[in-house]
Amino acid sequence: MKKSFMPPFKEPEQLQQHQLKGLQWTVAHAYRGSPFYRERLKEAGVRPEDIQSLDDLSKLPFTTADDLREGYPFPLLSVPLEKVVRIHASSGTTGKRKVLCYTQKDIDNWADMFARCYEMAGLDQEDRVQIAVGYGVWTAGMGFQLGCERFGAMAIPVGPGNIEMQCQFLQDFQSTVLCCTASMALLMAEEIERRGLRHKINLKKLIYGSERSSEAMRRRIKELSGVEDMFDIPGMTELYGPGTGLECPKHEGIHYWADYYILEILDPETLRPVPPGEIGEMVVTTLCKEAAPLIRYRTRDLTRLITHPCSCGNILPMHDRLLGRSDDMFIFRAVNIYPGQIDHILSNTSGAGSEYQIILERKEDGKDYMTIKVERESGGDPTRDQELAKGIEEEIKKQILVSGRVQIVDYGTLPRTHSKSKRIFDMREK
Ligand code: ZN
Repeated sequence: MKKSFMPPFKEPEQLQQHQLKGLQWTVAHAYRGSPFYRERLKEAGVRPEDIQSLDDLSKLPFTTADDLREGYPFPLLSVPLEKVVRIHASSGTTGKRKVLCYTQKDIDNWADMFARCYEMAGLDQEDRVQIAVGYGVWTAGMGFQLGCERFGAMAIPVGPGNIEMQCQFLQDFQSTVLCCTASMALLMAEEIERRGLRHKINLKKLIYGSERSSEAMRRRIKELSGVEDMFDIPGMTELYGPGTGLECPKHEGIHYWADYYILEILDPETLRPVPPGEIGEMVVTTLCKEAAPLIRYRTRDLTRLITHPCSCGNILPMHDRLLGRSDDMFIFRAVNIYPGQIDHILSNTSGAGSEYQIILERKEDGKDYMTIKVERESGGDPTRDQELAKGIEEEIKKQILVSGRVQIVDYGTLPRTHSKSKRIFDMREK
């Protein structure tokens, strides 16, 4: 029988028991090995022996990206340097890069986690995996490569870009799986269509990640490339790299590897857990990471837990796709709102473009008002504007539980920038 990388647990209680052991180990290990963590834990008044149940997680102090930058070049280091066999760094453009150290065990665990991704996507040893993500100091290429070798499929390490070579390899090597970012996947799908390659290649699956992608974009990639299935892969340098979870073929959410880390979804304002299924910030605590363990690391990424068990039967819990960054959150009439929620509604509304602006105002009556300017889709019919606006207003009310006025504007009238567009204009007095 072929080796499985899935956890051995049958019951949720076994998984929780495993998590508690991992949490106790992590706190004790960080306390012993890292002056930074020891200081933090002392400030919070927590000793390793105080962790007696998973609920004790809430006693632990948070760790942030600032802590990583302040600890540059080897932040959160909890083992002697001679145990470190590799470092990776984020491609961050502002400030110092986030650098993370790995022991050999960390590398092995990461490979096992990533091999599980390929298993969940339904690959076997016959598959040929064309890896079109960046190789270098960042984690992407290494992660896809390591996981592929651990899993036992054939890796074709091409790196990003280089469309000519990508197309040639798809034909010559008959690659069955392509790993890349969502925008690269769209580019490749368009090339496959343009060059009429559909019936000369053998591409069946796409594993894509590292950026947000709309429903419409995913549909288009699938249509043009002719692949059978596509899988969203999450990951961040702080938490090993890519491969810490994957969508399963049922696509009911992203299963995450809860036997390697604990995921909390917290309100970014109060830092308390949100009710199950509501949107909040992902906060992660690792269970066996040696060189740079994470204790309640605030990722700033927003998502929500999927509360029902997946119909695929896998015991590993699920979270939703990433819905934006907690820094972009705003509060309107006592409701936390994230631009990702508006993105989501627009991408599921036919006739609406993807560009929008949110204007928040406080009127004489002392109440706050929200106006959302939405572009009509390219080539859309202006006589339908009123109907379109009404449809979006109703969805906002239904999904976000607030009222806003929607104003449809011509396609191309809202500003576009390559960097992050400013979408929220808060005119309320602070
Ligand atoms: Zn599933």
